[in-house]
Amino acid sequence: MTGCSYDEFKVSVNSRVNPQLVEARRTYFELFNQVREQVKKKYQTEDLERRVRGIKKESLTHLEELLRVAVERMEGNGMHVLQAKNANEARDYILKLVEPSDVVAQSSTDLITEMGLSEALRKMSIPLYHVEPNYRMVQLNPEMEFFDKPSPTMCLKSAKIAQLLSKSLNREVPDEQHAIFDAWREDINNILGKATIGITGANSISARDGSVVLTYGSGNVHRIGALPKHIVLTGIEKVVPTFADAIDVTYLQSLYESGTGGSANYYVVKGPSHGYIEGKEYPEGMGSREIHVVLMDNGRRRMIREGFGEALYCIRCFTCHHYCPTYQILGPGAGYGFMTPGFGYKGYIGGRGTILSSFVTDTGRRLRAGYTAALSVAHALNTAPWR
Ligand code: SF4
Repeated sequence: MTGCSYDEFKVSVNSRVNPQLVEARRTYFELFNQVREQVKKKYQTEDLERRVRGIKKESLTHLEELLRVAVERMEGNGMHVLQAKNANEARDYILKLVEPSDVVAQSSTDLITEMGLSEALRKMSIPLYHVEPNYRMVQLNPEMEFFDKPSPTMCLKSAKIAQLLSKSLNREVPDEQHAIFDAWREDINNILGKATIGITGANSISARDGSVVLTYGSGNVHRIGALPKHIVLTGIEKVVPTFADAIDVTYLQSLYESGTGGSANYYVVKGPSHGYIEGKEYPEGMGSREIHVVLMDNGRRRMIREGFGEALYCIRCFTCHHYCPTYQILGPGAGYGFMTPGFGYKGYIGGRGTILSSFVTDTGRRLRAGYTAALSVAHALNTAPWR
């Protein structure tokens, strides 16, 4: 935090507002909201919304018991599970899994940012590539430190995408739809061809049968999940009682996030894959041989204790961002830190992200501690006997 004055902050905010981007967001959000209304009617999602809210409430109410069952079942299925108290513990665990010769491919999971894993891998000279196509563009374009979700390339013209891919592939990619998509695929195939470790998030985890459920639109998470080592990074709030509950949560998220009424792909993993020769089973199937699941607390239990647990009901559908006038103007950014004004902290954007980042980021924790201390002093002064 820079400790700038309100006026300095206001100037900084105004200088950051990009009218073209505000307009692009407005158009894009209106379109998403229209589609969402159609999806609601077509799939009659009100019942599902109610059910998912009930599942999340129930899960957080019985979180410790659910986590106990989930860990036991996942380990029983052959997965390795770490319950990480904080970001350092999670990061250290992952760094121990990585060899100097490894190449890491990741899909979209904000926990990588939350635990500072990219920086740690960079220091060890371990390559980390994003293989979700939109986020790969962000990686190839260092100017885009902060970007809109779930469509980070919303602000990129096709000519810019062609230029970024040309640089990555070291050949001229024409600014033409088919050529761009072919090049995009080639770039990501190159990465997946050499990657040895895959990192994904989890949309939900079914405690009862110990499986991880994911949804994705771009069609390659199953390839990340089939790399020799698959690491799943997720918050403890993603654990729900049953497989049907996990599907309900994931399905609702996909209906609202994709803007198209459901993702093209869903992926479930329950354990390492196996192969058979002459009827004998070997731990060498076509999928991952090792699966590690990191269940991160890092302030989430505290959120629940302090009465902010409802923010963990969030399934990351981004609906609230698309209706939020503040987000439309400011967009994403490091709201906690005020260095780069925006609404929310990096991956955790918008109103819900602001609450979450005040518990899971160091700056957020410091600000909240300061605010709580100031409140206590004010309260003490108010109730002091000499008043
Ligand atoms: S808080 Fe926002 S992103 Fe999360 S579930 Fe609600 S509308 Fe979706």
